[in-house]
Amino acid sequence: MSDAGGRPYRAIPGPSVMPEEVLRAMHRTAPNIYAGEVVDLTESLIPDLRRVARTEGHATIYIANGHGAWEASLANVAGPGDKVLVPATGRFGLGWAEIAETLGVEVELIDFGRQTPIDPNRVEEALRADTDRRIKAVLATHVDTSTSIRNDVAAVRKAIDAAGHPALLMADCIASMACDRFEMDAWGADVAVAASQKGFMVPPGLGFVFFNERAAAVRAAMPRVSRYWDWRLRSEPEMFYHYFGGTAPTHHIYGLRAALDMIHAEGIEAVWARHERLAGAIWAACEVWGQAGALRLNVADRAFRSHAVTSLGLNAPDGTRLRQWLEANAGVTLGIGLGMATEEDPHGDGYFRIGHMGHVNAHMVLGVLGAMEAGLSALGIPHETGAVDAAARALAAG
Ligand SMILES: *Cc1c(COP(=O)(O)O)cnc(C)c1O
Repeated sequence: MSDAGGRPYRAIPGPSVMPEEVLRAMHRTAPNIYAGEVVDLTESLIPDLRRVARTEGHATIYIANGHGAWEASLANVAGPGDKVLVPATGRFGLGWAEIAETLGVEVELIDFGRQTPIDPNRVEEALRADTDRRIKAVLATHVDTSTSIRNDVAAVRKAIDAAGHPALLMADCIASMACDRFEMDAWGADVAVAASQKGFMVPPGLGFVFFNERAAAVRAAMPRVSRYWDWRLRSEPEMFYHYFGGTAPTHHIYGLRAALDMIHAEGIEAVWARHERLAGAIWAACEVWGQAGALRLNVADRAFRSHAVTSLGLNAPDGTRLRQWLEANAGVTLGIGLGMATEEDPHGDGYFRIGHMGHVNAHMVLGVLGAMEAGLSALGIPHETGAVDAAARALAAG
């Protein structure tokens, strides 16, 4: 017996749920790429992307996933012989460091593990110790999607300034942009990267790189940047094809236009506030479940939790059992426990994640939580009752 019929819900941290408006906008025959609507739409995306990132700087679009955006951003500011500092708080911080290494860039890693946010004092110390100023950039993950840690990007900027160090601040906002408050200019990020399939609610395929004049100056001093990754022509195109270094991602352009219309109609502040309220409901439920049994939120301090993804732990293999039960019986797919394997739990079967980014609302979140309650009960996984009630009350309190 299964109750999984009906519309499935992938409550995973990307690709996120796509709105009907986005899907409908993309459902069309191949448009003209020489002139007309696609050209006008592309130009219209740039200021609206900058509004989401809260920057007066440049916005560029790559046909790429988040890994491509990582590489695009690095390729413009660092190369063989250069050095970057990576304060990592999960799998994605480590992943950006790996991309840097394979570009020939030396990486100084400060690994904060899987439960602790970036300590800006340690960043400041590392920069002070860099007396010959070799570090060109600090690569900070705003929200690490594996651990669901949300780092204080503005505090990292303060640490760089306190050390009197010229390094650029680069922020990975792939999981956070259009979900969590991010203020590129006010927080002093020089570069920010994002991707289409998370808060932007568009299929995977577009990577975004935002940069300011300080970063542009670092780019200008680079001995060479591959023509494809170079952000200069993309940000100041002389011809339409320069925007994408080749054929335009025609259908994604329509989808992104629809998504940006939705984001700005709701208002970016309102989008952030919605995610915060929905995250609060999820946390309220998880805190109740955890009062009896093993369920625990990966990040103890609310101030450092993502509002778009929640990493949770059970005793292995109950995380995987719960995920499988929900998929088979409730039509809900939860995220796997990424990068959370340990010696005792080599496949990370104790961990799982709830994705709540982008096109999500109260009934979707309550549906996931109710389905989880059913799964915990059906599988005999010990938990306190009343969690969904607590989530509903958190939402009612606003
Ligand atoms: C998803 C994600 C990435 C990687 O994006 P892909 O599209 O899977 O390449 C990188 N960083 C963060 C924080 C992410 O959430």
